[in-house]
Amino acid sequence: MSARAVSLAMEQEEAAAASGVDTASRTYQCDACGDSFEGEPAGAGLFLWTRGDEIRYEEPPLCEQCASRITVGALLKWDTEDEEEG
Ligand SMILES: [Zn+2]
Repeated sequence: MSARAVSLAMEQEEAAAASGVDTASRTYQCDACGDSFEGEPAGAGLFLWTRGDEIRYEEPPLCEQCASRITVGALLKWDTEDEEEG
């Protein structure tokens, strides 16, 4: 049931972005490696913090490499601690 709420929130976010800055052709700085890149951020990183009663969500721009690395890393964290690196 919460999937619908998430989907709705994303739609609202997209609408806000569409009415504002053109996200397709601007340059971002990757939040993880510091490289700048063009186009839409792969944005797999999601930060959440609270400020008093306010809850804020922030999606830092990530290049494709870092986004996939962080996503994979988060998945691996749960399951493959016993696996050797390299
Ligand atoms: Zn990066």
